[in-house]
Amino acid sequence: MRKLLSSIFFILILSLTGNTQATRCAHDWLRETHEQRFPGFQEQNAVIEQNLSHTTYNTGQRSVITIPVVVHIVYYEENEDISDLQIQSQIEVLNEDFRLLNENVNGIPAEFQPLAADTEIEFCLASLDPEGRPTTGINRVQTTYECLGDIGGVKVNGTSRLFYSELGGTDGWDTEHYLNIWVANSCGVYIGITPSLAVMDFAPEEDGIVIDYKYFGNNCNSSEASPYHLGRTATHEIGHFLGLRHPWGDCDGEDPDFVEDTPIQAEPFFGCPSYPQGTCGISEMYMNFMNYTDDACMAMFTHGQKARMLSVLNGPRSGLTESVGCALLDPPLPFGEDAIGLYPNPATNCIHIDFNAEIPGDIDVEMVNAAGQVLYRNIESSRNFRSIDAINLSNGIYFISFRAAKQTITKKIMIAK
Ligand SMILES: [Zn+2]
Repeated sequence: MRKLLSSIFFILILSLTGNTQATRCAHDWLRETHEQRFPGFQEQNAVIEQNLSHTTYNTGQRSVITIPVVVHIVYYEENEDISDLQIQSQIEVLNEDFRLLNENVNGIPAEFQPLAADTEIEFCLASLDPEGRPTTGINRVQTTYECLGDIGGVKVNGTSRLFYSELGGTDGWDTEHYLNIWVANSCGVYIGITPSLAVMDFAPEEDGIVIDYKYFGNNCNSSEASPYHLGRTATHEIGHFLGLRHPWGDCDGEDPDFVEDTPIQAEPFFGCPSYPQGTCGISEMYMNFMNYTDDACMAMFTHGQKARMLSVLNGPRSGLTESVGCALLDPPLPFGEDAIGLYPNPATNCIHIDFNAEIPGDIDVEMVNAAGQVLYRNIESSRNFRSIDAINLSNGIYFISFRAAKQTITKKIMIAK
């Protein structure tokens, strides 16, 4: 009953505000559709979610996971064929939001700030396709069907055309190893839509996200896309893709999203609420990325949501962490051969290091002798690393290598006393 009231409330809000815009997120609708389409879907999804909620994943120090993304632009009109820059802006938004580097973190109320998490998940436009060939990670396909983004409406024999080349859409790439995002015109029906995890078992070729072309990437001040113009539809939908659910449900019922540090709320928040808000009599996290608030007013995932997403990435979606889709993506070279100087050369008791420019991040410094024996190894910073003690070195040739951002420069120096 509560659910029904909640749905009615939702429809009421849309009509009261005169908001004829597309549904913010059709994840719950798609889950119900899949439950009807695939016998056993509901049970399988429940098993997956139960397993996740029993997993306690260590969110302490670990390395960043980079998920390879392929963006399928399926366009009917030319204006739906959005630019490379627009697509890249979406990846930037994701990397800011998932790493807690988004500018609006300062607006998170003090009560919730300790709960805001750097998920240590990043995204790249795939640099290798499933056959191992270099790629931009962008697949453009012109279709003869309008509104293919409306996956609930544009179907043939009950199947959405969007996900299949032979039906006028485009096939996804190996959905186990790539995050597939289809960008298409939903003709005002949805903004974003993501299936539940059990889709992996029932329709893996449809395992990905669909986002309306108008809301993909950072659209800056676009009035057409406002208030969903900052690329956070993808942030929200990828939350679903990694196992997150909406945080609303029966105030007295079971936790609707299976995450402890997201307060339960009776219904979604829209717009840009002021602090505090409470629909279940507690202070609620309207600024969470899994809410329905305006793009400008959502700002965080919690540590509990991070743990759940990492459980998914170490469980049902572990294929993404084993993917080589981002393999060619070394960052731009941060320094050239002449960025580092050693002096004097020959040296006697001290090798001075001269950085001609600041090198970003940690530098892995290693010194070996002519026989290849490691004599010195340390992690340094170009800001304060200035010398290596050579008092105990005997005369001869030595090699010092500097490794930063996957680039290595090796310098030769002679010790002569
Ligand atoms: Zn959603």
